[in-house]
Amino acid sequence: MARLNVLCGVDEAWCSAMKEAVRIRLRIDATVTRESTGDILDQVRREKADPQTDVWWGGTGDAQLQAADEGLLQAYQPPSSAAMLPWADNFFDLSGGHSAGIYAGALGFAYNTDLLKQRGLKPPACWKDLLDGTYAGAIELADPNSSGTAYTALATLVQLFGEDEAFKYLGRLGANIRAYPSSGSAPVKDAAHGETLIGISFIHDAVTLRQAGYPLEIVAPCEGTGYEIGAVSIVKGAKNPEAARAFVDFVLSAEGQATGAGAGQNQVPSNAGASLPPGAPDISMIRMVDYDFATFGSADERSRLLKRFDSEIRGIP
Ligand code: PLP
Repeated sequence: MARLNVLCGVDEAWCSAMKEAVRIRLRIDATVTRESTGDILDQVRREKADPQTDVWWGGTGDAQLQAADEGLLQAYQPPSSAAMLPWADNFFDLSGGHSAGIYAGALGFAYNTDLLKQRGLKPPACWKDLLDGTYAGAIELADPNSSGTAYTALATLVQLFGEDEAFKYLGRLGANIRAYPSSGSAPVKDAAHGETLIGISFIHDAVTLRQAGYPLEIVAPCEGTGYEIGAVSIVKGAKNPEAARAFVDFVLSAEGQATGAGAGQNQVPSNAGASLPPGAPDISMIRMVDYDFATFGSADERSRLLKRFDSEIRGIP
């Protein structure tokens, strides 16, 4: 069996399902390790001189655009390019042919309906509502350095309100933040388990948890919101290039994309021939910013915004 090392940015359940699918369908014995998006970027950077990773699969594509910018990825034109939806075509072009879009998903937040009732609080409907003092210590947002979800939130707020207003907003939101966990799915999982009232997350993540029976109400914020394009790339200098190309071809195929729904995931797939998971949020019904992936995925801009977040919001020098 061919060997392959994959760093996986999607939910654990999908990482495991894909490992099994490529073992059966491609006869590839893949090591599939789940990490948050920013942590994968750091690892690929650290391994630059001697890459141990062949494929970076999943997680928000902005960090893969940054990696392409930094010369860490191998250009590859998958055979399924003709079947991709237009937003995935645009993403592929933006990456200079180094990274392909695999799914899209809108950002939002979700609250625990049992806790809201117990505490007699008003349900939040807008980003601005999250500043209300009644939610003090009751909101989680991941750390945007490690989490692609939280970086999408940071870039979304900048695009919605302008940069200085967005940082003022995040500063005030900080008073209500209970924790900044490293993983992007932690806030909504903590809301599902009643450990926090509100979690800022991708809406499809919250849908998966609600389908599992957790008491969550999902909010597409009234001011509008941003979205991610999840991506896949081959690392420059990958030691298993043939298996890496076969893996990328598979995850972009309609069959490979169906493994997401099979593992309970609700992202919108990028292959026009892949069926939409039945619970996938209808992103055409959500008020969406015209998300500028070129700017917010550029190495300079992403690094600058993260630095500003650390110093102004977290007080990290
Ligand atoms: N989980 C799901 C379901 C996602 O769609 C994404 C983004 O691509 C992530 C996790 C990303 O994780 P993190 O925010 O920890 O980088």
